[in-house]
Amino acid sequence: MSHTFHVVVVGLGVMGSAAAWRLSQQGVSVLGLDSGAPINVLGSSYGSSRIFRQAYWEGLDYLPVLKQADEGWRELQAISGRSFLYASGGLFIGSRLSGVVSKSVATAKAGCIGYRRLTSSQVAKKFSAFHLSPEMEAVFEDGAYTIAADNAHLEMLNQAVVNGAQLRYGCRLDRIERIDGCLVLKLADGQTIQADRVILATGASLANSLIPDLVGIVRPVSVPVYWFNYKFGCERGFVNFPAFLYELHDGRLLYGTPQISQLEQGVKIGFHNHQQSGLNMDNQRFPVSEAYIDEVSECVASIFSGLSAQPYASKKCIYTLTPDDSFLLGESKELPGVYYISACSGHGFKFAPGIGNYMARAVQGESLSDMASIFSIARFDKSRLP
Ligand SMILES: Cc1cc2nc3c(=O)[nH]c(=O)nc-3n(C[C@H](O)[C@H](O)[C@H](O)COP(=O)(O)OP(=O)(O)OC[C@H]3O[C@@H](n4cnc5c(N)ncnc54)[C@H](O)[C@@H]3O)c2cc1C
Repeated sequence: MSHTFHVVVVGLGVMGSAAAWRLSQQGVSVLGLDSGAPINVLGSSYGSSRIFRQAYWEGLDYLPVLKQADEGWRELQAISGRSFLYASGGLFIGSRLSGVVSKSVATAKAGCIGYRRLTSSQVAKKFSAFHLSPEMEAVFEDGAYTIAADNAHLEMLNQAVVNGAQLRYGCRLDRIERIDGCLVLKLADGQTIQADRVILATGASLANSLIPDLVGIVRPVSVPVYWFNYKFGCERGFVNFPAFLYELHDGRLLYGTPQISQLEQGVKIGFHNHQQSGLNMDNQRFPVSEAYIDEVSECVASIFSGLSAQPYASKKCIYTLTPDDSFLLGESKELPGVYYISACSGHGFKFAPGIGNYMARAVQGESLSDMASIFSIARFDKSRLP
């Protein structure tokens, strides 16, 4: 049996969900499908928390999308009547000349984002949980927040359905073809669906050959994340604990989020640019290696005297990387009418409502040129990639 929709969104992680929500708000007939479940432990969007920050050390170019995304998260929270944005603030730490400190300041200044620059002794007074050596500094962004990720993601899906979107789970797309001017989606269960436009938001699977455009550019990796509990009697040091980035002297970058729910004790911590290994889905459910646990424990012990040195839990997650650690967003050259989003190199969650908005506009014929330069595939010359 074959059905026709104006837009089919394939992959309902946070990116596909945001696109489906935005399209449904505009009254577009939209079907969302995902091979997994709404909360997909093997996807990249799964988890209790994500950081939202705008003093973005990664660059000024992200500012317009960050602003849209911020408005989108607040809009979603207001519509839903539920709370999933926690005003934790964000503390970005590094040596005085580190990229994290100097570039966060540069973006904050350019975007009029409120921030304070703190010396190591000011950090010690205000955020006593952290240890900084004297030559280190920090940038505090008061308006940064921690998103309750699963709840926010589910709320997008709720709102999409309330607005008339159809969603299907356990439904894998195998192939897309163009037949008689229409895009035909062939599902693993033998069904076919017709669409005028398709948005591929398939996360790590963007690396596979559903459309050839991205092959060789997108690289999925497995990355561990850890949970550390407070040492007995040290909980008070973690009241008003911010989301954070902490750049070590050798360039390894730790991130962390505060406890925002009674269901998940302590602080979630991981390396952003380290402990990455080639993705093998069969290994994703295996325990994180002892060597990785020892390494992160040593770092955590040197920064947080109030946290137990050993994590009480750890888990493997997935980053989908591009060669410059930014994103990919565009229309397939090989299969026009098929759009792709994400490959967010491990920092895309915060952008979802903004990127969803752009995508909803793009599939309705608006130009993507205002964000093309930073997210366009044209910035890569495939013949020069390793
Ligand atoms: C541990 C960790 C911490 C992070 N922290 C932050 C943070 O603090 N702030 C931040 O902004 N970002 C953060 N990120 C990055 C962010 O979470 C990801 O960039 C984002 O979730 C990617 O979402 P996605 O929708 O593109 O992919 P996914 O969530 O992986 O969704 C892709 C979906 O596509 C489905 N799919 C795949 N192939 C098919 C197919 N053929 N047919 C049907 N469905 C298919 C999958 O089942 C999956 O559900 C973090 C990521 C990780 C892993």
